[in-house]
Amino acid sequence: LMKRIIIAIDGYSSCGKSTIAKALAKHAGYTYVDTGAMYRATALYAFRMNANGIVEPMNGSNSSNIVEMLKDIHIGFIQTPEGQHVTLNGEDVESQIRTLEIGNLASQISTIKEVRAFLVAQQQAMGAQKGIVMDGRDIGTVILPNAEVKIFLTASPEARAKRRYEELIAKGVEITYEQVYEEMVQRDSNDTNRSVAPCVPAEDAIIL
Ligand code: C5P
Repeated sequence: LMKRIIIAIDGYSSCGKSTIAKALAKHAGYTYVDTGAMYRATALYAFRMNANGIVEPMNGSNSSNIVEMLKDIHIGFIQTPEGQHVTLNGEDVESQIRTLEIGNLASQISTIKEVRAFLVAQQQAMGAQKGIVMDGRDIGTVILPNAEVKIFLTASPEARAKRRYEELIAKGVEITYEQVYEEMVQRDSNDTNRSVAPCVPAEDAIIL
């Protein structure tokens, strides 16, 4: 019987983390967990509450609102013919979370320590199952520091922006390369400079 291990893949947005993680999981017969999708689904919930006038989640000083909402947020994953999709309170929200707006909001709410604690607990419980490939920003450093394999993916901001731009255009989103680039640099800066679980390689990560 082969020992089942944990593979942690961290790095900035649009480096190809999920492409590699999915391929690895398929190859090994492991479960893939996209932790960014969990932040995005949480952000989508806050975004909808905001749209309904219930809360203003974009305002950092008002973050207690989102903390109160956490008890009403249930995130899951389902298998579909198009691959794994994330669910929010039972609803398949895969396509709704993949927008620039929700990516930005996810980056903002991910700095709130209660939001992280809420998702970290779920991610660690999934990791305890072994036979897992998990991608994110803090998997090798915070979530699963005992992972047997840790990879930190990097690429130039230009290459990543080009990748994301082409993905968005293929989906029919109207956007310019410059908009995508600027949004990405902003999000990188948020993710690297935040005090909780910044996006940095673990000491024992393989940098690719
Ligand atoms: O990877 P993805 O772009 O889907 O992640 C969206 C946002 O969620 C990131 O910009 C980051 O701020 C946050 N995130 C995080 N920790 C993770 C995964 C994502 O803070 N493990």
